[in-house]
Amino acid sequence: MSILKNTPLAELVTFINKLFAGRMMKNDNPKKEVKTGTGSGRKENGFMEQPVTSLKGIGDKTARLFGKLGVETVEELLHYYPRAYDTFREPQPISELLPETMAAVAGMLTKTADVVKYGHLQVTTVTLRDISGLLTLTWYNMPYLRGTLKAGERFIFRGRIVKKRGRLTMEQPEIYRPEKYASLVHSMQPIYGQTKGLGNKTIAKTVAGALEARDTERDYLPAGLRIKYELAEYNFALEHIHFPKDETELLFSRKRLVFDEFFMFLLSVRLLKDKKEDKQSPCPFVIDGKAAALEEKLPFALTGAQKKVLNEVYADLSGGHIMNRLIQGDVGSGKTIIAVLALLQAAYNGYQGALMVPTEVLARQHFESMNELFTGLSLPVKPILLTGSMTAREKRLAYEKIAAHEADIVIGTHALIQEKVVYDKLGLVITDEQHRFGVGQREMLGSKGMEPHILVMSATPIPRTLAIIIYGDLDISIIDELPAGRQAIKNCVVGKDYRENAYRFIEREARAGRQAYVICPMVEASEMLEAENVIDYTKTLREHLPADIRVEYLHGKMKAKEKNAIMELFAANEIQVLVSTTVIEVGINVPNATIMMIENAERFGLAQLHQLRGRVGRGKDQSYCIMVNSSGEEDARKRLEILNKSNDGFFIASEDLKLRGPGDIFGVRQSGDLEFRLADIFTDADILKTVSDEVKELMDRDPFLECGENRELRRKLDLYLERSYEKLNL
Ligand code: ADP
Ligand code: MG
Repeated sequence: MSILKNTPLAELVTFINKLFAGRMMKNDNPKKEVKTGTGSGRKENGFMEQPVTSLKGIGDKTARLFGKLGVETVEELLHYYPRAYDTFREPQPISELLPETMAAVAGMLTKTADVVKYGHLQVTTVTLRDISGLLTLTWYNMPYLRGTLKAGERFIFRGRIVKKRGRLTMEQPEIYRPEKYASLVHSMQPIYGQTKGLGNKTIAKTVAGALEARDTERDYLPAGLRIKYELAEYNFALEHIHFPKDETELLFSRKRLVFDEFFMFLLSVRLLKDKKEDKQSPCPFVIDGKAAALEEKLPFALTGAQKKVLNEVYADLSGGHIMNRLIQGDVGSGKTIIAVLALLQAAYNGYQGALMVPTEVLARQHFESMNELFTGLSLPVKPILLTGSMTAREKRLAYEKIAAHEADIVIGTHALIQEKVVYDKLGLVITDEQHRFGVGQREMLGSKGMEPHILVMSATPIPRTLAIIIYGDLDISIIDELPAGRQAIKNCVVGKDYRENAYRFIEREARAGRQAYVICPMVEASEMLEAENVIDYTKTLREHLPADIRVEYLHGKMKAKEKNAIMELFAANEIQVLVSTTVIEVGINVPNATIMMIENAERFGLAQLHQLRGRVGRGKDQSYCIMVNSSGEEDARKRLEILNKSNDGFFIASEDLKLRGPGDIFGVRQSGDLEFRLADIFTDADILKTVSDEVKELMDRDPFLECGENRELRRKLDLYLERSYEKLNL
């Protein structure tokens, strides 16, 4: 394992011991008593379970903002890891600078700063000289800099390089004296995912405060494992993932936490596997001639791969054991119809079936297309929709129908397996493009006395060796063929200067009756990130396209009702161009859409880009994917080139891995629907395999984790399971 090798272990171990010797004593300090009775509803009242308001300086208002980031408790805060780190790099020679990159430059000012007024704007300009050339630097509305930036003085500047009128300049750089910069070079500052009103400084300060105030935890990982794999001590890792001294320390901490993530996850997978081993199904289905007759009547003939997988599913359903199956199939391979046919079998056998999806938009779409199909085939099967945004009254009505078995098929978000939903006879649960159906969910159903068949559908292209580990509790079917007659999507990676051409192309396609998606990373303009946003982009597009081509937007912050209305209009081609965030990423199916234009493509992971692209090429018409690369970085160009070359999800994942290499943690994450906080099943595949072996050995020896130090692990695992269970009831 490459991360293992370059760890100066001895040095770190000494450091940790020193650190925690001091820390343990400090823990007796009574000031660390925390407020209680804040009604968090958790069983334990330890410091980690407290709401963030128990921390110094965090009031209700800030707590609400943290809530937006999914951080309610101190524990969640400490596991809210930095998204990236700001590293103070060695200055670069001016002659080697590239546009649209962050850089540091060192040199001497050729003359004292100029300040020029343009209307309300005061522009301060200097020219910096190093051995390789000259660079202009500008600041806006900071005329007082003139007092600092004097001719002949040496500085280090750090900022973004942009190209203006054919020349490179650095805008709004930070200013450092050489001595100061020398003390900072190579150091890393955490950068957290932020939200409006809650900036990086506040988050970092709050995390630092929480780390300071908390008790150290006993390390639950058996010591043998820690030594064998040179893993950091837990408390050390948690602290230094936030505030690493340098990259070595960061990698050392990260490796430990990645190990933990896989460890907990695979332990829970193993529990599931042990539980289901040869479990008799209380509800074997009868699959009779009706199924074949139904296939005949579908609007299209199933592909060979679809037939094969469908038969595997039917064999499970009727075989006497409880089905636990994963269907893997690239975007557009036609997974939905398999789900629909399986759900119909449940209904024919007198059972109810549930289809769980990650977004309401997708739930509604499945609901509508199922209704349409059933009406077309005159099938007396009743689907019903159940989503979080429905009014209390609508939900109650749905609950009643489900309890009375007036609905055969329930489609929705995770709302559909919540406590309040009581099924009459639930025989099958399918999850589509969803986090895998975990222990928590199954326990939830089990606690209601139900043991339905389970089918998981995923488009994440995971190599078989990894899939067997990650989905250790499931049998795997693969749809390895696309429906006939699909034309390969035509791709291009372009710069911003290509936009005008793209707009003309969108106009032409719209005139020919077809539609386009334009994806932007952000909802609205932000000071923190320079990236296109849905709101402003929609305005721009409206200006660039004729008035009769309707442009609307969609994003996750809109009310469910508005989103549904927009999606319906788009599906009906009342809207021709949909500007959207990645809310449309998974599952959405509008076969008439033929253009996918992705702004700031460099900001997305390849798996995500592949999913986005999968929204086109779903019908008979030639489709196109236009990826706009707004970054000058070579890495970004290379990554996008992989997508440009291929439409094959497995190929893309494996090429991406080659490019990034094991242990590369700074690339864009690739995991798709497998959400780990830090771990990436691709680049951390080595750790994943190691953990898988260790979990197997541990559980074979001590299946209930009852012996010696394993008990501590059991406690942590129970907590982990409880958390994943709680998450379902938010
Ligand atoms: P995904 O696997 O990405 O979920 P879908 O199930 O949404 O894919 O299918 C993509 C599109 O292909 C849909 O419009 C669907 O109706 C269509 N489709 C599915 N199977 C076939 C088939 N065998 N022949 C032709 N079209 C099909
Ligand atoms: Mg799908």
